Amino acid sequence: MIINPMVRNNICINSHPAGCFLSVQRQIEYAKKSIKPANGTMPRLVLVIGCSGGYGLASRIAAAFGYGAITIGISKEKAGTKTQTGTPGYYHNLSFDREAAKAAIISLTLDGDAYSSETKAQTVQAVREAAAKAKIPAKIDLIVYSLASPARTDPKTGILHKAVIKPIGVPFSGQTLNMMDGSFIPVQAEPATEEDVFNTIKVMGGEDWELWVESLLREGLLSPATRTIAYSYLGPEISWPIYKNGTIGKAKEDLERACRLINKNYSTEGKIAGAWISVNKALVTRASAVIPIFPFYVSCLFKVMKKMNLHENCIEQIIRLYNDRLYISEDPQKTPADSEGRIRIDDWEMREDVQKAVMEKMNNTTQENVFTETDLAGFKHDFLIAHGFDVDGIDYNADLDLGTYIG
Ligand code: NAD
Repeated sequence: MIINPMVRNNICINSHPAGCFLSVQRQIEYAKKSIKPANGTMPRLVLVIGCSGGYGLASRIAAAFGYGAITIGISKEKAGTKTQTGTPGYYHNLSFDREAAKAAIISLTLDGDAYSSETKAQTVQAVREAAAKAKIPAKIDLIVYSLASPARTDPKTGILHKAVIKPIGVPFSGQTLNMMDGSFIPVQAEPATEEDVFNTIKVMGGEDWELWVESLLREGLLSPATRTIAYSYLGPEISWPIYKNGTIGKAKEDLERACRLINKNYSTEGKIAGAWISVNKALVTRASAVIPIFPFYVSCLFKVMKKMNLHENCIEQIIRLYNDRLYISEDPQKTPADSEGRIRIDDWEMREDVQKAVMEKMNNTTQENVFTETDLAGFKHDFLIAHGFDVDGIDYNADLDLGTYIG
């Protein structure tokens, strides 16, 4: 079978298994050579919630192939068959598990709804099973919370909540970029209702992270050495009407509330080492490509950061998070953080000189010069890679047997 990308409105509805496999292998190679030994306790048992793409996948790869950690990964994917491709995450997970097996690193991947009580119960079993196999205590050293989801069923009420990306108070009008042909498309969004805000917080806020920590603690799977981290984004002022001050920003505020609560309830009592929010750089993932203004902003950002030699992708970001923040000291109090207690690996993105250059670029970009003024080509390349396309070294004209990519 020959597979070509099927992209509409910055959404890709298929994937290329061979490309997904190779991009995981490349991240593994990078992690192996770039990770530094952790100061203090090396993470040996790591749980990644949202493990199949973007920041979660990079976090899992860095933990397993950097530190040699056993990893339990959870994601919700559509499996591939002999005749139909699955989601890219399905192939990323398969590739990860096969590479881990080759390297004799224990890994268990669960496919299910991370928000449900069933998946939490299955995870408890998986953690115990993996620890028993490795003959180590069933105590998780690191929990990475990296979900990006459009919906969540509340396990207590059974109600399905749907997240929306909307401004609050005032309508939003701006433009997004169609990455396939470079055309600017006007986007408008009406202000969110109170219900929209509530629902988005339910999906992307901190309640589920709290539930994870509570349930793992109840099962005796955490220890005073356990660290937990959830990912957030702040971004430049130009994106605030639709991001930070919008529905998704409110959900991220709630994630910070949950972080403070987890620390108050459990870290101060020494039940776990600590919880952190890590504010990460804007990057191209399946989730981020559909946020209005993002494709344009990120295309300008990439152009500037590549020129300044500051550009990073997910794996580079996460390696820096582990090397220079999370595992810099055995003492969790010494984790470098901002005045709000957040880890900042968006520091290079938010540098004054970087932001100034990006804003100038955004002002100078027109429909005519979009391909030369911005790195739209780089944005498109990364988006295609996230789905297994445009990966250097893959022959996309070769006949592919989907049967060899089934778990
Ligand atoms: P992504 O789309 O690449 O990955 C999302 C992951 O969540 C996937 O593994 C997916 O399978 C999983 N998932 C979604 N719903 C699920 C469910 N119900 N059950 C189990 N798994 C589920 O997204 P990403 O961009 O890597 O985002 C991860 C986190 O990083 C998010 O919190 C996001 O806000 C944050 N972040 C992203 C960026 C960015 O620019 N991409 C920047 C800063 C922070």
